[in-house]
Amino acid sequence: MTKLSIIVPCYNEEAALPPFYEAVTAVASALPEVEMEYLFVDDGSRDRTLPILRELAGRDAQVRYLSFSRNFGKEAAMYAGLQAAKGDLVAIMDADLQDPPALLPEMLSLIRSGEYDCVAVRRVNRKGEPPIRSFFARAFYRLIHKLSRTEIVDGARDYRLMTRQMVDSILQLTEVNRFSKGIFSWVGYRTHWLEMENVERTDGRSKWSFFKLWIYAMDGIIAFSTAPLAIASVLGLLFCVISFVAIVFVIVRQLIWGGSAFGWPSLVCILLFVTGIQLFCIGILGQYLSKTYLEVKRRPIYIIRETGGGNQDEQQA
Ligand code: UDP
Ligand code: MG
Repeated sequence: MTKLSIIVPCYNEEAALPPFYEAVTAVASALPEVEMEYLFVDDGSRDRTLPILRELAGRDAQVRYLSFSRNFGKEAAMYAGLQAAKGDLVAIMDADLQDPPALLPEMLSLIRSGEYDCVAVRRVNRKGEPPIRSFFARAFYRLIHKLSRTEIVDGARDYRLMTRQMVDSILQLTEVNRFSKGIFSWVGYRTHWLEMENVERTDGRSKWSFFKLWIYAMDGIIAFSTAPLAIASVLGLLFCVISFVAIVFVIVRQLIWGGSAFGWPSLVCILLFVTGIQLFCIGILGQYLSKTYLEVKRRPIYIIRETGGGNQDEQQA
């Protein structure tokens, strides 16, 4: 028997949970030689998600749940799930059925072949997504591909099945600014990519506003690349060279023709331009500094308010 843990981060998923539970248990019951563990992580939901989880856990001994004291974000929820999971194999799945449980048998047999440590899913299109969002998403992946040596795959979902060994490696990365798409790739191991068409949410709206996605993208770049820090030095050097040439030009002109003190508007423009670039570079420094500040505080990544389900005695131990 293999023990398979399925981690489900849930934030205000009252409507999605019952159909999700139905769908995933239906698929799981057909999996050969597998003992299931469902680990729902309630990420500070404000709706009836927690009572539903309590009810599921009361009904099914395979269900466990953790409930956060507030909304800590999906990254924190996934980390909490990975820490709590007891399975030999661990899967992460969204609650909204955008990660089709029907792929599980294939993922399982691929892992069991022993050739891969991880089977992950990427979507090959962005059907049903606002075009402007797709545009920025693509631009982000192109940018991070250039800036970072860690490979971050376009369209990769967080839906993946991993071995215990890989999960333990991921847990060694205890950073607070967690960008899982990068972390999964950073730890290495052999990953097999399954491709799928985009599935639209069963219910409700995506929890990701454009602004949230923007912050997420910036966090990703800062967590997995230090290239922006080099922009300041490159630009600084460039401006030194330009100004040196300009100084030589002005001196030569003064020596030959005299009266070179004209054109203060151009001077103001240059001043504004250069100070703008300086502020931009200080801003980049500030971004890294603020992330460093948050990391050195070593605050917990999440706080649990309530747990339940599974074997309660074990929980207390
Ligand atoms: N989620 C979470 N905390 C959050 C936001 C989302 O745990 O702060 C969960 C959510 O319940 C869902 C998954 O993360 O199971 C993906 O969220 P969503 O479907 O809104 O994102 P999308 O599929 O649009 O990327
Ligand atoms: Mg979703």
